[in-house]
This record gives sequence, C-alpha cells and structure tokens, in this order.
Amino acid sequence: MKAVIFGAGPCGLTAGWYLARKGVEVTVVEKDDTVGGLCKTARKNGYGFDLGGHRFVSKNEVLVKDIKNLLGPGLLTRSRKSIILFKDRRFDYPVNLGNVLSQSTFLMTLKFSAGYLFSSLGGGSARAREGSFEAWVDKRFGRPLNDYFFKPYTKKLWGVAANDLSDEWASRRISVLSAKDAILKAINGANGAPRTYAMSHLYPENGIGQMFEEIAEDIVRLGGKIITRSRPVKFLISGSKVTGVTIEDRDGARETVKGDEYLSTIPLNELAGLLAIDSDFKLEFRSLRFLNITLKGVKDFSDNTWIYTPDPDMIMTRIQEPKKYSPKMAPKNKTSIIVEIPCDYGDQIWRMDVNDLLDTAIGDLAELGFDLRANVADVFSTYAKYAYPVVKVGANDQIEALRKEIIRFTNLKSLGRQGLFKYIFMDTAMSMGMKWAGSI
Ligand SMILES: Cc1cc2nc3c(=O)[nH]c(=O)nc-3n(C[C@H](O)[C@H](O)[C@H](O)COP(=O)(O)OP(=O)(O)OC[C@H]3O[C@@H](n4cnc5c(N)ncnc54)[C@H](O)[C@@H]3O)c2cc1C
Repeated sequence: MKAVIFGAGPCGLTAGWYLARKGVEVTVVEKDDTVGGLCKTARKNGYGFDLGGHRFVSKNEVLVKDIKNLLGPGLLTRSRKSIILFKDRRFDYPVNLGNVLSQSTFLMTLKFSAGYLFSSLGGGSARAREGSFEAWVDKRFGRPLNDYFFKPYTKKLWGVAANDLSDEWASRRISVLSAKDAILKAINGANGAPRTYAMSHLYPENGIGQMFEEIAEDIVRLGGKIITRSRPVKFLISGSKVTGVTIEDRDGARETVKGDEYLSTIPLNELAGLLAIDSDFKLEFRSLRFLNITLKGVKDFSDNTWIYTPDPDMIMTRIQEPKKYSPKMAPKNKTSIIVEIPCDYGDQIWRMDVNDLLDTAIGDLAELGFDLRANVADVFSTYAKYAYPVVKVGANDQIEALRKEIIRFTNLKSLGRQGLFKYIFMDTAMSMGMKWAGSI
C-alpha cells in the first residue's frame, strides 16, 4: 500500500506518521523549505519564534500519549496567563463579563449591563445578519459591549465587518461565559469548559516546530519520504480514481508520484483548480506578519504568556513572549517578543520595510506602557499567508458544494485547516490526519 500526502503541516505529517508506523509506504510533498505548516519555529541566535505561539491541548488520548513518547522529557507541561489591554484598561482573557464590568466606568457598566440584560431576556438583534459574528456576540453580550470591544477587534483581525463574518469563528475562539460554560467551569474548573479556558497545555521545549520536525524525522526513519520545495501541478485521473500526481520543484523539475490513497491538506481552492473543478467561489485567507524582536537589558517583558491588543488604532492584535512558553526559547536571562500583525497577502503591511514596521509597533507598545525604544537588539519578520480562513456568512454552502465535487474521487480526501477551509486547531488537524490514516 502506498499513500501520497500534500502538505507537511500537522494534518499531513500526523497522517503520514501513523501510516508509516503501520508499514504503509508514504510520500509527503511540501511546497515550503521546511515542515510544520503554521506550526513552525524560526530560530536565530539562540532565540525561537513560533508563527504565533501554539499551545497543544487535546482530548485525543492516543495522540497525546504518542506525542509524549516521541518527545519524552522535551515535552513540557506549561500554564499560561493572558490579558487584554484596551484603552488604558486591563481585562481578563478569556473574556468574562464580571471582570469587564469591574474594570469599566460607572456609565460603561450601566450600558454594558443593560445591553447584557436585554440580550439575556431574549432581546433580538435586528441589525445583525443571521449566522454572523455580530449576531452571535450581540446575543451573548449585548450590543454595547459588542460595539465597544468585539466588533473593532474582529474588523482588525479578520479585515471584514463582524456582520459579514460567519459566527463559526466566534463559537470556536470566544468560548465566553454562556450560562452552560459558566456552570461547566464552576463544576469542573477548566476541564469541563471549552479549550479557551485550558490553563495548562503541552509545549515542546524548543518550540512548537520541534513536534513536527520530530514527527517528520520519524516518518523518514520508518522508510517514508518527505519531498520539500515541491507542489502538485497535475492530477492524473481515471474514472473516479486518482492514479498519480505530477509534482514540480522550485527549479521546474517534474516527476510523477503514484499511490493507492491520496490526502490533500493544501488550500481547498488550489486542489479544486488542480482537479479542474469548475467553481467561481473564491476562498479568502487573512494573513499575518510577525515581528520577532529580541530585547537587550530586559530579562522579562511581562508576566503574561500573551497579551491581546484589540485597539483598532494599533497595528498588532497580540504580543507574545516565547520564553513564557518554554525557557529554552531565549538564552538565559534574556528575552524576546513576537508582535502579531494581521494583514492581507501583498498589502502595505505585508510589504513594509521591517524597520518602519518596527517603529510603528514600538510606538503602539509605548502607548500600552512598554517603552522598548532603547531595548531592541534585533528584529526580523516571519509571515503566514494562509493564517485564517475568512468564512463569510453563507460561505458554508459553497464550501460544501466544492467538497461534494472532491469526494467524487474515491481515493482522495481533502482535510486540515486549509483543506476544509475551516477554523480548526492543531490537535483537530492532527486527529483528522490520524483518523484518515486509520481508515486506510
Ligand atoms: C497565529 C496562530 C496561532 C495558532 N495557535 C494555535 C494554538 O495555540 N493551538 C492550536 O491547537 N492551534 C493553533 N493554531 C492553529 C494551527 O496552526 C492549525 O490548526 C494547524 O496548523 C493546521 O494544520 P494543517 O496541517 O491543517 O494546516 P497547515 O499548518 O496550514 O499546513 C498545511 C501545509 O500545506 C502546505 N502547502 C500549502 N499549499 C501547498 C501546495 N500547493 N503544495 C504542497 N504543499 C502545500 C503548507 O506549506 C503547509 O506546510 C494557530 C494558528 C495561527 C495562525
């Protein structure tokens, strides 16, 4: 049995790993120079920088056990502390209404409470489109808090209005205190509540990328093949089966890889194009640019793992301190930060000179109370073109239509975050890969 997998991110690599472990001949084709997908770690001068820090939290016990065995003592159990800094105020993360109210002025408290009460009593949201992010938050928090806090943050992060964005993201990422969540949390602590509440997580000591570098090494040790700097350019089809795929490397050299089963974790629209599926549906992805800054004369940036910065007038959405994930992410007594900046692929922020972008970020950081102008030792950028699938209201029908076209091919599956065009976490992507491997 032979399997060919496109994309060496968490989904593709985990699939390849479980197949290689059961003796299947595996070939993984990856267009980048290195493996890991969005879960990569860039390393420079003893510092490590993820593409935005990644927590590994999973309810898949087999997967967790296997990852623990693979990484041994190099897999740390960490706890995290996160806050939101917004308009000179400090809020808890995850958001919790009691805390928001306690941090607000009397007038704001009055407004937020009235809005919350109105929505809790079933007050409608005539302004919001059904199934939109805006409607979801209006319903749970009321309009005033949505207008003050969530809507501006959403626009900044996603680049689209909250009323156009599907509520899918809201339910996955803002596991805020609905009555059910609150009860679960009260009874079970973080265990019973959604993953946003998980205060402890697993993390490889040398960055999240280590997990996928080691999985890739194990695939090769078990006889599998990982071909980087290459992408599929033509699928060979016979009836309802894929019989081979031509791949091309960066120098234009081509070869055909053949398998019995195929898994694609590349963006759904790219796959549809390769299969000549006729669709005018355009998938949009929000991109991220990261400023990876090493600091001099600072041992600790803050006591938080990460800080959310929703202010629409600031360029960044998050600041992370890699050392808080693992002490090995910075040399002893030194530290660094990652400034996470949402943008669109190729736009002004994506293209801006790194020092100009740093200047803007330093200005915003100073406004937040972190004056680092004299402390920057080094800075470099990393990029994630396909960071977030922008699922707009109504898009799920079109995605489903595309998926139906793809499942006509009986030995091909499209899975993972890009392959499903779905906002999923790393452990879900890994579990999908694992399940697919188990099914063949
Ligand atoms: C800023 C940020 C923070 C996050 N934090 C967390 C977290 O704390 N915890 C968590 O669980 N999840 C987190 N996630 C989500 C996590 O990164 C994803 O769920 C996970 O990476 C999805 O894995 P995947 O394999 O499906 O996709 P990807 O990681 O995107 O991998 C897809 C792979 O396919 C390759 N590829 C694309 N096109 C082609 C092509 N044409 N040919 C060949 N290869 C191709 C890509 O280069 C990539 O290597 C975060 C995501 C972001 C953006």
